[in-house]
Amino acid sequence: MKHLLKNTFFILLFVPFFVQAQWDKYFENSSLRIDYYHSGRYRIDYFNVYSYQKLPFYSGSHTYLIDNTNNGAYKVALFDKNNKKMIYSKNFSTLFNEWQSSEEAKNMCGNYEETVIVPFPKEEYDIDIVFYSRDSVNNWQEVARTEFNRSLIEELEDVRYNILPLHSVERSVDKRMDLVFLPLGYTKEEKDKMMKDLQRFSDAMFTYEPYKSKEDLINISALEYYTKKSGIPGLKDRKDEEGELGVKYNTFGSERYIMTLSVWKLNDVLNNLPYDAVIIICNSDVYGGGGVYNFYATCYSGTTAEKVLIHEFSHSFAGLGDEYADNDSDAGLQNIDAEPYEKNITTLVDFSKKWGDLMEKDTPIPTPATKENKEKVGVYEGAAYVSKGFYRPYQTCMMRDLSPFFCPVCSKAINEMMDIYSK
Ligand SMILES: [Zn+2]
Repeated sequence: MKHLLKNTFFILLFVPFFVQAQWDKYFENSSLRIDYYHSGRYRIDYFNVYSYQKLPFYSGSHTYLIDNTNNGAYKVALFDKNNKKMIYSKNFSTLFNEWQSSEEAKNMCGNYEETVIVPFPKEEYDIDIVFYSRDSVNNWQEVARTEFNRSLIEELEDVRYNILPLHSVERSVDKRMDLVFLPLGYTKEEKDKMMKDLQRFSDAMFTYEPYKSKEDLINISALEYYTKKSGIPGLKDRKDEEGELGVKYNTFGSERYIMTLSVWKLNDVLNNLPYDAVIIICNSDVYGGGGVYNFYATCYSGTTAEKVLIHEFSHSFAGLGDEYADNDSDAGLQNIDAEPYEKNITTLVDFSKKWGDLMEKDTPIPTPATKENKEKVGVYEGAAYVSKGFYRPYQTCMMRDLSPFFCPVCSKAINEMMDIYSK
């Protein structure tokens, strides 16, 4: 026992020191923004780098450099070419991933703009940038490898917007979760409304657990960004209008889905400050939003939009899946033969990776959605837009029906992500 304790102590001391040393060895305190085209079709991906930019700050952890969350549809990694060692990785999903699982992607190719931001490697290293996607059973497969060519770094456009602090915490930028709100569809004349909406949403972040308990970890600021025209296009008489930064309703023909295809333009505005997560606050009373893991989230600004903001943010921040199954036609090409990577969804193909540890031993699998089981973690059929064969952990949850709480499985997943940002 004594020996074991000694070892534990040694590991606890040694690991943070070791990873900090990795950071000091390989990285500058700045970011590499990589813009690339992500193209392909169902289960086929191509990644073609278009440009590099160097940003004068880095928001992420200096001690958590290799992503071991198993979240997301894709992964980007940096390798030291010399010793072939992975020195950084980050998992993420994108809008392309959603298109890729639509019927349309079986017969045609898509080509989408994407951006990833990684720590900037020091001059003396030759670096490979590697992209991965998932195979049919959701294992990672390398699909593109390109050498980081420093001569292709583009000059940074000097965009400067006022930064509005909404919820400031004392921790340094690498040891906190930096959330930025980008208001969109507010004219200069609507400044008062914009300020009120931003503060309302910032306050809303801390009215729900487990975010409430992480108040000291989450730093929220907003960019003071105005548009010429009020509101968000995509519906009714503004159906074909170009959205500011491409942001519109009606993405992929789904009326309430607010997204943009102009990801590079969006990132040009966000070049302004270091951040870990972004929510686009859309000046509109019409219900809508969206959220994609480690990509961005959007939300309308109506009087009851706070819950939608929390729901969408939890997609984009924690990679949680939707636990509802209202309309099987929304499901796309969901793969029932693979265990999904979302922490709150299972097909029971490999439930050992999921939430069995949070269940009572005698709970049947699948679990009947009865009154008696109302407050029991179980395996309830109907999730991820599919009524059969996909299961969720709880009868109700913020991720199912905007209930004002997260189920124990979603709460755990959010807390685990928060821990990463505190390191
Ligand atoms: Zn849940």
